[in-house]
Amino acid sequence: MAPHITTPPFHDLEQQARRLQRFFVALVVIVALLPAVVFVFLEIGHHRNHSRQAAGRLAESLIGHVGRSGPNRVTISEMVQAEMGANDIVFLRLVAADAGHSLSFGAPGQRVFPTQISVSLPPAAAPFLELQVQGDDRDLLRRVSRVFVIHLLVASALALIVYRLPMRALRLALDEGKRTYEELLHADKLSAIGEVYAGLTHEINNPLGVILSRVRLLRGTAAERGLPADLAEDLEMIDRHGSRIAEIIRGLLAFARKTTFELTETDLNRVVADTISFLETPFAKQGVRLNILLESIPPLRASPDHLQQVLVNLFNNARDAMPNGGTLTIRTRLNDRDLVVEVQDTGPGIAPEIQGRIFDPFFTTKPVGHGTGMGLAVSYGIVRAHGGDIEVESSPGQGALFRVRLAAGGGRP
Ligand code: ADP
Repeated sequence: MAPHITTPPFHDLEQQARRLQRFFVALVVIVALLPAVVFVFLEIGHHRNHSRQAAGRLAESLIGHVGRSGPNRVTISEMVQAEMGANDIVFLRLVAADAGHSLSFGAPGQRVFPTQISVSLPPAAAPFLELQVQGDDRDLLRRVSRVFVIHLLVASALALIVYRLPMRALRLALDEGKRTYEELLHADKLSAIGEVYAGLTHEINNPLGVILSRVRLLRGTAAERGLPADLAEDLEMIDRHGSRIAEIIRGLLAFARKTTFELTETDLNRVVADTISFLETPFAKQGVRLNILLESIPPLRASPDHLQQVLVNLFNNARDAMPNGGTLTIRTRLNDRDLVVEVQDTGPGIAPEIQGRIFDPFFTTKPVGHGTGMGLAVSYGIVRAHGGDIEVESSPGQGALFRVRLAAGGGRP
C-alpha cells in the first residue's frame, strides 16, 4: 500500500513566511528612516552649537557691562534684549547666587528639542554665576519634519514593494505547494480505496467467472436439454445481472490499476475524433454543440481502447450536465512534454464541496438507475495507469473542465 501522507506542513510554512515578511518590512522601514534620525541628531547638535556661540558672546558682553557699571538691571536688560533678537534666542536667564537677584528674559515655552545651553560665568560677572539660553527651534522643527516626511514616504513605498513583490512570489509558491499537497492527499486516499477494492474484487471475480460461464453454458444448451421457457428466462436474467457485476468489477480493477494494458503507439487526436464520431448524433439530438480544437501533437504509447473509455465517460458526463443543450469544447495540445486533452462543458458546474469526491468509486449525484458513480473512478485509474493525471476545474454556474495530462511518448504498463 502506498505510504500515507498525514502531516499538513503548510500552516508552519505560512507562519514563517508571514514572520519573514514582517521582518523584511521592518528592516526596510528602519533602513529608510535611519538617515532621517541621523539628520535630526546632526541638526540638534548644529542648533546647540549656534546657541552656545551666542551664549559665549553674550557672556563676554555681560562681563564688560557688569565691569563698567555694576549689575545695573536696565543696561543689562537693554543689552540682553538686543542680543536675544540678533541671535534668535527666545529665553535667557542670568542665575545669581541669591535667587532674588536672578534675572529672566523671554519665555521658555514648550520646546520640542532639548536645545537649552548653560554657561558658567567667571567671577567678573558677579553676582551672576550662570547664563542659560534657549534658542528658537521652530526653524529646526520645520527642517526636521520635512526630512522625516520625505523619508517616511520613501520607507512606505519601499515597504510596499518588499511586501508585494518577493512575498507575492512566496505566497504563490506556497499556494502551489498547498495544491500539490492536496492533490497528493487525494491520490493517496484514492490509492488506499483502490487497495481495498482490489482485494474485494479479486475475491468476487473468480466465483463470478465460474457462475457466468456455467449460466452461459446452460443457456447455450437450453434447447437440447429441453429446459422450460421460464427457467431459460431466469437464466437470461442471471446472465444479465451477473454481467453487470462483472462490468462493475472490471471498472474497480481499472480504478485500482490492477488491469494490465497493452500499450501501442497511439495518435491521441485519432482516438478523440473516433470517440466523437459515434457520440455526435446523441449530442446533436440533445442540442449540444461540439467545439473541437485539436492541435497537432506527437504520438504516445497508450492503450487506445482505454483512453477511449475515459473520453466516453467525460463526454457522457458533460452531456448529462447539459440536458437542455449547451457547448462541449474538446481541446488537445502539447504542453511542454505533456499531451493535454480538455473536455469543457457549459453545464451547471460542480460544487466545491463535492469536487474532492467525484473520483471516488460509487460517488454519484445522479438518480438511481442513471449513474453508477464508476465513470470518473475508472477514468482516474486508466489515466494514472498511463502515468498521467486527471483534474477538474469548476465553479458553480460556470460549467466544468476536465483536464487529462499524459506523458508524450511515454506511459507505463
Ligand atoms: P456517474 O456519472 O455515474 O454519476 P461519475 O464518476 O462519472 O459517475 O461522476 C461522478 C459525479 O461527478 C457525477 O454524479 C456528477 O455529480 C459529477 N460530475 C461529473 N462530471 C460532471 C460534469 N461535467 N458536470 C457536473 N458534474 C459532473
